[in-house]
Amino acid sequence: MCYRPPQAEIAAAEAAGPKMKDCPECGASQPLTAKACSECGYKFPPMKLNKTAGPGGPASPAPKAPDAPAAPSAPNPPSAPKPPLS
Ligand SMILES: [Zn+2]
Repeated sequence: MCYRPPQAEIAAAEAAGPKMKDCPECGASQPLTAKACSECGYKFPPMKLNKTAGPGGPASPAPKAPDAPAAPSAPNPPSAPKPPLS
């Protein structure tokens, strides 16, 4: 008899997210974290990370920085005039 996993397990596995990916070159199952195929050395393209940018374009526009007061530069105190040498 051929053992066939019930649909429930398959659905659960898909819901959990695939943890393996197939190498397009040799078809070997490689972990998603693999950067290269351990069988043929195929280098997987970098994974796209869309976590930061939410749907709908940039969610947080760059806040306009108000005119920051310039760093208070203490003016050099006027040097006391030296007494003229007599
Ligand atoms: Zn491969």
